[in-house]
Amino acid sequence: MDIHEYQAKELLAGFGVRVPKGGVAYSADQAVYRATEIGGSRWVVKAQIHSGARGKAGGIKLCASDVDVRRAAKELLGTTLVTMQTGPDGLPVHRVLVEEALPIARELYVGLVLDRKRERIVVVAHPHGGMEIEEIAQREPEAILREVVEPAVGMQAFQARELAFGLGLAPPQVSQAVAILLGAYRAFRELDATMVEVNPLVVTADGQVLALDVKMSFDDNAMFRRPNVVELRDYAQEDPREAEAAEHGLNYVALDGDIGCIINGAGLAMATMDMIKHAGGEPANFLDIGGGASPDRVAAAFRLVLSDKNVRAILVNVFAGINRCDWVAQGVVQAVRAVQVPVPLVVRLAGTNVEEGRRILSESGLPIITADALAEAADRVVGARRSSPPDPLSVPERGNVQSPPSPAGRGGQGVRTSNANAPGPV
Ligand code: GDP
Ligand code: MN
Repeated sequence: MDIHEYQAKELLAGFGVRVPKGGVAYSADQAVYRATEIGGSRWVVKAQIHSGARGKAGGIKLCASDVDVRRAAKELLGTTLVTMQTGPDGLPVHRVLVEEALPIARELYVGLVLDRKRERIVVVAHPHGGMEIEEIAQREPEAILREVVEPAVGMQAFQARELAFGLGLAPPQVSQAVAILLGAYRAFRELDATMVEVNPLVVTADGQVLALDVKMSFDDNAMFRRPNVVELRDYAQEDPREAEAAEHGLNYVALDGDIGCIINGAGLAMATMDMIKHAGGEPANFLDIGGGASPDRVAAAFRLVLSDKNVRAILVNVFAGINRCDWVAQGVVQAVRAVQVPVPLVVRLAGTNVEEGRRILSESGLPIITADALAEAADRVVGARRSSPPDPLSVPERGNVQSPPSPAGRGGQGVRTSNANAPGPV
């Protein structure tokens, strides 16, 4: 989970990290009010989106009067900002951060990341921060400073001092930088972050050290114990389908193909996507519905998968270990009746109570294609898609059109049960 710059700065400030004076605004009036509150005569208005590289995209505006501040806020709010990191669709700007503009003498880079191989938090720093860091890091990678933190004792002051001296800071700035580094580390640990990036960390003309830009990401699996972080989530910055999935406890990632996948377990989902590709198809999504998939959750999964207009066929693949195939089958039948699935549907069940599960599917009278083995299921779903050529007009909006009768080529009405001698489950 990502949060906005102004939110990350508020969190870090709570750990003693010095940041410029500023405040968030949702309107041009509010932006001017913020500038007055801050005082001084120069401000920056910064678009708040979950992306970096805003500066180069016109999302950071220096202002020398309240007229400037109003104009900058008006220019940014309500627009979509496309940066090198957002992809071509960009992200909507609904908030701006108004800050005192500082006279900058130096821009440095500091990042705290989780190094999964080392199983440690690593603090990286570079003497040239700001907007060119990627290129500079490539040109002179030897200049990147690293401190690996021992988790049992946490980041030590000597490590922070080594980084600060390595960045070429003078003694009066070293102690300020050390406070920022140690504070950022504590925030990382105590808030279950996966990344804290301060770029740039600046030294001002009068020798002050501050975090001028901050990004933070968090570990989704730890958010159950971080309610104060969870409330910072901004759904407007996320893929709406992925956000809806998260609300139902589903793990969804949109992809480019046309075969919708509804699977329990991330490992099985990965294997299923491989098998679909092996059979000559392309998955439209990754979707893990989790272990105890209730009919409600299965219905939510169908709605989600069908909200992708590219989907031409769906494969449900459930291995019931903790779950039971008969429950899953009931869930699928209820979901298909509730959601109206307008594309061919292949269901492969394996595990506990599989016979009962298959009976429920076959007695439902729904045009569900079944399969025993994963390879077979992948072949069938790719074949089913091929027998229904893409026709955008024939794909109805979700939930409000009856599913079309299945064409003869797919085996007509009713369940087609696979060859009982097919290879066993994968
Ligand atoms: P990013 O492009 O999304 O990473 O946005 P940043 O917040 O890092 O801003 C980009 C650049 O704008 C910084 O590297 C600075 O050079 C400049 N900038 C941002 N705030 C100020 C400020 O208060 N004063 C000055 N002089 N420059 C600023
Ligand atoms: Mn930046």
